[in-house]
Parts: sequence; C-alpha cells; structure tokens
Amino acid sequence: MSTTPGKNVKVRFAPSPTGDLHVGNIRTALFDWAYARHTGGTFLFRIEDTDTTRVTDEYIQAAIETLKWLGLNWDEGPEVGGDNGPYLQSQRLGIYAEWAQKFLDQKDAYHCYCSAEELEAVREAQRAANVAPGYNGHCRDLTTEQITSYKGEGRLPVVRMRMPDGGTTFNDLIRGDVSFDHKFVPDFVLVRGDGSPLYTLAVAVDDVLMKVTHVLRGEDLLSSTPRQIRVYQAMGLAIQDYPVFAHLPFVMGQDNAKLSKRNGEVSIAWYRDKGFLPEAICNYLALLGWSPGDDRENVTMKELTELFTVEKVHSSPARFDMKKLEAINGDKIRALTIDEFLDWSLPFLTKAGVITGTADEIALVKLALPLIQERIIMLSEVPAMLKFLFVKEFAVETDSVAKITDDASKAVLKRSIQELEPLTTWTHESIEVALRSSLIEDMGLKPRIAFGAVRIATTGSTISPPLFESMELLGKQASLARIRAGLEL
Ligand code: GLU
Repeated sequence: MSTTPGKNVKVRFAPSPTGDLHVGNIRTALFDWAYARHTGGTFLFRIEDTDTTRVTDEYIQAAIETLKWLGLNWDEGPEVGGDNGPYLQSQRLGIYAEWAQKFLDQKDAYHCYCSAEELEAVREAQRAANVAPGYNGHCRDLTTEQITSYKGEGRLPVVRMRMPDGGTTFNDLIRGDVSFDHKFVPDFVLVRGDGSPLYTLAVAVDDVLMKVTHVLRGEDLLSSTPRQIRVYQAMGLAIQDYPVFAHLPFVMGQDNAKLSKRNGEVSIAWYRDKGFLPEAICNYLALLGWSPGDDRENVTMKELTELFTVEKVHSSPARFDMKKLEAINGDKIRALTIDEFLDWSLPFLTKAGVITGTADEIALVKLALPLIQERIIMLSEVPAMLKFLFVKEFAVETDSVAKITDDASKAVLKRSIQELEPLTTWTHESIEVALRSSLIEDMGLKPRIAFGAVRIATTGSTISPPLFESMELLGKQASLARIRAGLEL
C-alpha cells in the first residue's frame, strides 16, 4: 500500500534506549522514516524510557544523535516538539496512571495481589501439568474481604488487564492475517506494584494519543500486538482507528542466527567510528529486507523515499553481510567530492593525532586525498594512509624494516638517491621517469622489488598511496632524507 485512504499517515520510531542503537533498530527507523516520507506523512520519534533501571540519559542522547547523523529527520519528537508531546515516556507517567485507573473503573483491569513467589508456584504447576504458562486469573474476581485481607498484609497490587476469552486477529501489512488465541495471551500487567507503567500500556496509550496510523517495527514485538489491541479496545478506540501493523522480519547474522553482539551486531556508533558514511549505512540497510523490485545494490535516500512501500518488504529474514556494507561504503567514499571527503576525513586525522588542524596541514591533506579515494573502504583508514606526510619523527614500521635491509634493497635505495638528487623538477612524472629508467630498465629489477623498497623507505610502510605521487607531496628533501636513513638501517 502507499497511503491509507482518508488517513494522514503517521509512523513512529519508538526505541527503548537501553544501549546504543544497533543495526536492527536502525533498519526499523529507516523503514519508518522512508514510509512517512513516501506517503508525505509524519515521522514521529518517541523515547520509551519507562524502564528507568536500564535506560540512561546518555543512551537517550546517543539515540537522538544517531538519528540525526543518519539524516533521519523527524517531524514530532524530542528537540523538535509537536502537538502530541512530551515525547519521552518518563514525562508522561501521569497519563498512563489515568488510563490505568480508567481501565480499573471500567473493570477492564483489576488489582492483582499475587506475590512473585505465588506466581512462580503457579508457573511451576503449569509446567508440571504441561499447560501453557501464564497468569491463572487468581485475582480476577476477588471479594471485598479478600481484598481487605491482602491489603492488611501490606501487599502492593499490580494492575492487570483482563483478557477476554476468544482471540485476536489483525491484518499485518507484511504477514497478512495474524491470529492469537487468548488461551496463550493471559491477563497481563499494565502497572507494577510501585505504580510504574509497563511497556504494553505506555506504547498502546501513546500510539493512540499521538494519533499514530502505522506501526512498522521488528517482529520480536509481534506477540505483544494482541495485548496492545486489548488496550485500544479498553480506551474505546473504534476498530477502524487502530493503527495498522507491519512487523519487519529479523535481521540475521551471517551464521543465520538472529543478529546479536555475538555474531557481529554492533552499535551504529561503532560504524561511525570506523568511518562508515551515513549514506552507506542507510543504503545498505534499506536494501536489507526490502527492494524496489529489481536487484540494485545502490539506492539513494531520495530514491528510497520515492520507492519505499511496505508490500515490497520481504517476509523472510534478511541476512546482514558486512562485506557488502563495506563495498557500498567504498562506493560512497569514491562518490564524494574532494571537499566532502576532506570534511569527513579531518576528524579522523585529528583524532588519530596525525594533524592538529592547521591551514597548511589541511591544504596538504586536500592534495593527498585524491590519491587514496579509490583505495579505502572506511574513513578510519585515512590516518594510516596519510601519516607519512605529517610525522615529525619518521620511522619505518617495525615489520617492514627487514624488507629493506637486504643487499638488493640497499642497491635500489643507493641508486634511487643517485637518480633523484639531480632532479630539478620534483613531480610524480619526473620521479617516475628517473626511477623507472634506472631501477627497471638499467638494473632489470621487477617493479614490485624496486618500488617496494623505495615505498617502504619513504612512506614507512608497504601500504601507501601511489608511490610517485606520494613522493611528490612529501617533497624532494624529505624523500631523499628518508631514503638515506633507510640505507642506514
Ligand atoms: N520500545 C520498544 C523497543 O525498543 C519498541 C516499541 C514498538 O515499536 O512498539 O523494543
């Protein structure tokens, strides 16, 4: 579907930031955003931070920064505000308490005084009898005497929602009709004994009050849907006004297990620090479980917003492939203008201590970047590639020393000095001509051997930008000084 007739589409991304956002969260956010943008609707960002023991301010801020960094701008939510705020659930506790009270008054919910031990005993008995686990309805219809007696014991009740007999069926945009038999959806807790709301209450109340029309989220939340629908009913919402659900299939690791820390899922902050570009991450994640109907590997944010529809989301799990993401990142780096590449690279260079950020340094970086743009897949490779141009105390990498101390290498370095010293113009062309004619033609060496030694001596490493261009940027004096020092090793 593209738009729901007669409805203004509003899609929300509602993470519980109990850590940094991960690949799975971000793919959900991206699809939410793309769907809102495709339909010309609203993208709402809500922070589900009622679990105060696990959600921290730092994680909330990181979630906000991550969405901004990825370019997933929101129309309602933290920082931008909106008519349906506040957008942090911790600031809405009074609202949930009021609804819980209303449900109690309506007898949709009831106070449950069962202790943790009693509930565990029930579960134990259910296990022994091989019946579905879940609340047994003990407190559904307590007498006034029982209530008085429990209160007398000082028990703090939870608020529990009454699940009617029967079942819930809803139409999921990705999986079609999904049904739940309430035998497997027991009465559930809305509010803890200490008065704090549970996810199911807060999420459903907010989706209704914030006028969310479409809930696109991970399939791990599929089983919570009948409980949310039950809350909508208790709120008096008409069926046609329920949000439409679409549960996105899991993102699997390469080993086919659900993506987790163990098989490579790391936070988006990790990708940012490694030097992945936001466009690369969005491009890759957009095509992870969705395609516009062809087998393209690249999609821009603009194309995504034009083409994204929920029907084209695959119903089977998607497999995360780091190599593909790296390849896309390399493509995106190559597509940058030099000024953009410079802007992205400078923080990596300063953080690594390669430059301090003076105008001269920046000018040299700008000259050097075209040499490496084709060669890297992550921005974090830039400092190692360009370090040789800026180091004050130059030294050949320990692993490479042995590669230039043999007789053949010494001969190469000696001859290079002889050929380079007289050069009056120092360009990559003049350097190349001088070294090729002497080392390759006269001495008959293989380029790998000849230039390998010069590369190590001048850049300190076997991996560098193209040699002659590197030497041009390094300058004649420094290049010769390094080759001479190489001879002394
Ligand atoms: N806050 C929930 C979570 O991060 C998601 C809520 C939802 O999308 O329904 O798991």
